[in-house]
Amino acid sequence: MNAPKKAPPAAPDTAAPGHFIRQVIEQDLQAGTYASRRWGGAPGDGASHQAGWPDPARIRTRFPPEPNGYLHIGHAKSIWLNFSLARDYGGVCHLRFDDTNPEKEEQEYVDSIRESVRWLGWDHHFADDPAHPGIGQPHEYFASDYFDFMYRAAQYLIEAGHAYVDEQTPEQMRAARGDFATPGAASPFRARAPAENLRRFREMAAGRHPDGAMVLRARIDMASPNMNLRDPAIYRIRRASHHNTGDTWCIYPMYTYAHPIEDALEQITHSICTLEFEDQRPFYDWLLARLIEGGLLTAPPPRQYEFGRMNVGHVITSKRKLRLLVEQGHVQGWDDPRRPTLAGLRRRGYTPASLRLFCERSGVTKSGDAWTDYAALDAALRETLDPAAPRAMAVLEPLKLVIENWAEVFGSNAHLQPCAAPAHPHRPGLGERRFLLGPEIWIERSDYADTPPKGFFRLFPGNLVRLKYGYVIECLSATKDEAGRPSAVRARLLPDTQSGTPGADRVKTKGVITWVSAADGLPAQVRLYERLFTQEQPDAGGKDFLAALNPHSLQTVPAIVEPSLSSAQPEDRCQFERHGFFVADRHDHRPGGPLVFNRITGLKDSWAK
Ligand code: ATP
Ligand code: MG
Repeated sequence: MNAPKKAPPAAPDTAAPGHFIRQVIEQDLQAGTYASRRWGGAPGDGASHQAGWPDPARIRTRFPPEPNGYLHIGHAKSIWLNFSLARDYGGVCHLRFDDTNPEKEEQEYVDSIRESVRWLGWDHHFADDPAHPGIGQPHEYFASDYFDFMYRAAQYLIEAGHAYVDEQTPEQMRAARGDFATPGAASPFRARAPAENLRRFREMAAGRHPDGAMVLRARIDMASPNMNLRDPAIYRIRRASHHNTGDTWCIYPMYTYAHPIEDALEQITHSICTLEFEDQRPFYDWLLARLIEGGLLTAPPPRQYEFGRMNVGHVITSKRKLRLLVEQGHVQGWDDPRRPTLAGLRRRGYTPASLRLFCERSGVTKSGDAWTDYAALDAALRETLDPAAPRAMAVLEPLKLVIENWAEVFGSNAHLQPCAAPAHPHRPGLGERRFLLGPEIWIERSDYADTPPKGFFRLFPGNLVRLKYGYVIECLSATKDEAGRPSAVRARLLPDTQSGTPGADRVKTKGVITWVSAADGLPAQVRLYERLFTQEQPDAGGKDFLAALNPHSLQTVPAIVEPSLSSAQPEDRCQFERHGFFVADRHDHRPGGPLVFNRITGLKDSWAK
């Protein structure tokens, strides 16, 4: 008899390449859902696209940040998703500044968002491409450029009986909305004639009414089980200067109204957002269907798809809380290397490739928000950086070591001894680093012990140790300061033991230590970063997240580094042997000095449980 067949494993809805949004796109491409779309060369209404040519972009996605803060690691997920889908399916991804809210937006944020997207490696989607007319242009747009169309669309909705001006107070409107169990009650203004609504709406736009006096509402269904369809407000009066349109407008569209229109004007096919917008989708579809009926837009409309937000353990991304951390002096600005902003991650030394890999691995699912461990980002960093990063020796807590028989071994006129090490252990093509060994060197304080603990093979009196890329030395003793701490280690060198010379391994040692010579070592400042929060979900359930701040998140130590690092450029990354991956600080480091290095992460996950 045959053994019962095992059920096939459930199809993963997470890991790329098969995630559900890719499946949707592949089905659409197969069915030709968007094949008839045209592109007018710029965002515009239905007629302007119809006058264009068949859209050379097979799909259009967009990344629509609101320019009211710096991008953070969660945004990297959305950037990766939208841009990589466009890349993989022969489409384009638009960078759209969703700047319909006049109050909170600033040029500084626009600049930093643009810079972060490019830094992440998505610049090529903005480059000129002569083979594809209409793609070869920067697809960077501002939602506020669509205010005219939004106003026109609102007037159409009013004329067609799909919208009305409501003059109830906000309290009355709230009370009449009902709740999940109770249908809402119609506003007394709901039945007003279109001509009267149009007149009132134009008065709103002309500044004839005070802020908050009335709103424009879509007329849909006050009994809908979806609260978002109970005649949502779509325009409000707000006297505020806008960074792009100045004082042209005193009415502004609500986000739920503006967003579908922005997508449609840009001929977006797949509008990807996070799960909290799921309940907005019926309104999104309703609005675009009405505007297509009215001939303002052409079919097929864009469609919205929701996926679970990416949350990262030990990280807070709320803008309000991020701001509080700066204001209270717990971190130094938006690009503090401990922060999860893209500017902070960049300064910390994370590579764009590591962030892309991290996002890809964290998966795309519609089943809820996903928690991802920060260790996965460090793993992606090590994986992408290890094959490329040049090696260097750096002594982080220097202790002097004196080779007492130097003159005896090398002669009384003793010269410094040249040493060489590969720039990368597996990539001979990267060449060699050169440095000198002399009678005085710097070693790690932790490499010496008066009495060795069990398993300690480094320096203690009587023990033989190899100086990496140098000679074997014998530890004699240590001289002490007044507090009894070692102030220098005494040692003697064993002749003819230089690494890489014939017979050098005639003397066996159990310990090998890193070092930098006092003669050519360079002083540097090294910043050792740890997680900013000690708890995985520092703000879960309204907890006081400040209580979870890690008091040791930044430790600044003086170090001595090998001479090859004097030419490091800001943002150059390397591996300090034994210590981990480091980056020359973007702001404070200068080639030639001062040398300032940030620890990106250690060689292993020191936080592993
Ligand atoms: P926040 O308030 O955390 O800054 P937001 O959603 O208000 O986030 P927007 O500028 O509106 O910020 O976001 C731009 C895009 O990035 C949106 O499409 C949003 O869904 C997406 N996004 C923001 N945070 C995340 C996250 N943690 N995971 C995935 N996508 C995200
Ligand atoms: Mg937002």
